[in-house]
Amino acid sequence: MDYSGSCHCGAVKFTFSADQITEGLRCNCSICLKKGALMSNFFIAPDDLRIESEPDVLSSYQFASHVAKHFFCNNCGIYSFHQTKRKPGFYRVNLGCVDGIDSLSLPVVLADGAAF
Ligand SMILES: [Zn+2]
Repeated sequence: MDYSGSCHCGAVKFTFSADQITEGLRCNCSICLKKGALMSNFFIAPDDLRIESEPDVLSSYQFASHVAKHFFCNNCGIYSFHQTKRKPGFYRVNLGCVDGIDSLSLPVVLADGAAF
């Protein structure tokens, strides 16, 4: 299926193709605890996430190992996707940003990111 998504203000937009989304992932690592977002429980290859953002609006944050890269809109502050630590370069997306997905009703898989 073809999916599209955006941050809250719409300055960051993205599209990707994936199997139908039937579940989400939450994680107990230090940043996910504070973000509280429901993420895709699948990885998107770097070439398969098409990002269309307005200039200078997409910021990123890194910490600790500096492998994962957490992207957010510096206008509205919303986390839209990140490059993972588990599979460097590959993305997970914030399902709350994906059009047509009810992120509050999806079954949740828990990842023990704190132990990784
Ligand atoms: Zn925004």
